[in-house]
Amino acid sequence: MTDFFKLLARNRLALAGGIVLAAVVLLALVTPLLPLADPDVTDTSNRFRPVFSEGALLGTDHLGRDLLSRLLWGTRLSLAVGFAAAIAAATIGAAIGIIAGYYGGRTDNILMRGVDMLMAFPYILLALAIVAALGPGLFNALIAVATVNVPFFARNIRGITVGIANKEFVDAARLSGLSHTQIILSEILPNVIPVIVIAMSTTIGWMILETAGLSFLGLGSQPPQADLGSMLGEARSALISNPHTSIVPGVMILVIVMSINLLGDGVRDALDPHLKSGALSRPMAATRVARQSAAPKPAGNGLLEVRALESQFHVKNRVYRAVGGVDLYVEKGECLGIIGESGSGKSVTALSVMGLVASPPGVVTGGAAYYDGEDMIGAPYRRLRDMRGRNVAYIFQDPLATLHPLYRIGDQLVEAIRAHRTIGKAGGRAKAIELLKAVRIPNAEKRISDYPHEMSGGMRQRVGIAMALANDPDIIIADEPTTALDVTVQAQVLTILDDLRRSRGLAIVFITHDFGVVAQLCDRVAVMYAGRVVEEGRTADILETPRHPYTRRLMACVPELGGGKRRLEAIAGLPPVVDNLPKGCAFAERCLKAKGECRKGDIPLVSDGTRGVRCLFPESTSREAAE
Ligand code: ADP
Ligand code: MG
Repeated sequence: MTDFFKLLARNRLALAGGIVLAAVVLLALVTPLLPLADPDVTDTSNRFRPVFSEGALLGTDHLGRDLLSRLLWGTRLSLAVGFAAAIAAATIGAAIGIIAGYYGGRTDNILMRGVDMLMAFPYILLALAIVAALGPGLFNALIAVATVNVPFFARNIRGITVGIANKEFVDAARLSGLSHTQIILSEILPNVIPVIVIAMSTTIGWMILETAGLSFLGLGSQPPQADLGSMLGEARSALISNPHTSIVPGVMILVIVMSINLLGDGVRDALDPHLKSGALSRPMAATRVARQSAAPKPAGNGLLEVRALESQFHVKNRVYRAVGGVDLYVEKGECLGIIGESGSGKSVTALSVMGLVASPPGVVTGGAAYYDGEDMIGAPYRRLRDMRGRNVAYIFQDPLATLHPLYRIGDQLVEAIRAHRTIGKAGGRAKAIELLKAVRIPNAEKRISDYPHEMSGGMRQRVGIAMALANDPDIIIADEPTTALDVTVQAQVLTILDDLRRSRGLAIVFITHDFGVVAQLCDRVAVMYAGRVVEEGRTADILETPRHPYTRRLMACVPELGGGKRRLEAIAGLPPVVDNLPKGCAFAERCLKAKGECRKGDIPLVSDGTRGVRCLFPESTSREAAE
């Protein structure tokens, strides 16, 4: 809740709207206590006195009534009617929406067709018809305004409810024996209340205007009672000769509606989780690059070479050092594994190379990524776009999230091909089928017109790989592509990748948290911890003699088939939070061998060319000997 107010207060316009609205509401609340003239007493000898005349701060109207007094009393009435109408419309509309959405079927049909009937009439005509039927009067105007707004709420809330009513937690509530009423009150309602509040905050202003409109036409408040609309209506005949009688209530309506709308938009932005997470600030096309120092030169070993890469997230006034100086390289046809616990910066490293980290909040603050000698980090966006997919391709973890749900996979493959070259319809189809065959999707000619939801997880991931292959890249970065798959399918996908590497000379950067996968696929491996490489070397060497205590402990977490009764160890503690990294070794907190020196200064990666380790007291024995 405090978060909500903080977010709201950050939005200057909403804050201003809130303050103005609060002032107006306060004024309306204390009106009976103020020493005001009676708003309804006429004094025709003092008609149309101008603003700032003695005894009448805002002048008088055509019957000599004090405008200031009428304005304040009128505002009070208009606000009350507007809020009452909004609450009535929201309550009734939400009730209809929830019931229709929750029960569905015939109930839904009957209720929503009724709502549709209301919606079939033009808005204001319907309100006029209702008042005409009920007779003029402020209360009837309130009923009319509330009624015409019910459909808006009913439809909105029904849509949300339908989505929620089929969720697992509602099924669970049903299974636990709760009644429909209990489920609606305890499971559905809390989930739709934010939506109701948002819908209300954005429509109250509109309802106040509508009420004023009806009063303006003489169908709302009846003389001598003042509300803002009727004041405007009465002032109409003197619009030219005595404009202040119109301007006074007009400005008040403007101020109220404006402030409510500004506040309402702010409330919506602060409550809606999508907007809150920054959907309003569009991410840049490529990650922002703000290097503190000149890019390091390539050392010339490898097709892709990452040098001293640093990426951070700047969120409010905190700096998350997700990647803190990573060096990697991969040669043509080689497979490099990047391994580490969740949150160790593997994905951010890979995404930074491609300029795919969302900015804001992501920033690359240092380092370089050379593809064939060309720095991708500093490359202009057009060049980067050229290289993405054609030179360096990416396979994402969750294929369901990366495939468009509404397009056939064939069309999506053709789209990926078209991004880099022009190809005809038949040619595109042929190439797509060829790609599907390359990733061993059986019956490719038929499968090409499947939608993503018609495929299994393994099949979808194959499509993801096919897409990465679409433009014959030299390097594929695969970010945990098999994590969502079961072991048999994982093995198949790994085999496909391995074959592709051999047949096409592909270089692969394979991100994983699974040493088994590394052993099966990778030539070399880099172990990451808290945004840095702590150990690197040839896979066989590292598996045989892990030298960093972290690597060793990570391996001890992997069960081995036929490994006997070895105890599986979890690494106690959690990785450090990257906005507050400890001095010295980031792993020291969890390391059994840590000494005082480990917590002092920066610890360099000591490398002999093939093998590197970032530890003051590396292990020297082989793994078997240690156990
Ligand atoms: P993984 O190794 O599991 O792929 P990531 O590279 O995704 O880890 O994340 C590295 C670190 O960056 C994590 O500590 C994570 O909390 C942080 N991080 C990632 N995205 C953001 C973000 N948008 N804002 C702040 N921190 C982030
Ligand atoms: Mg990741």
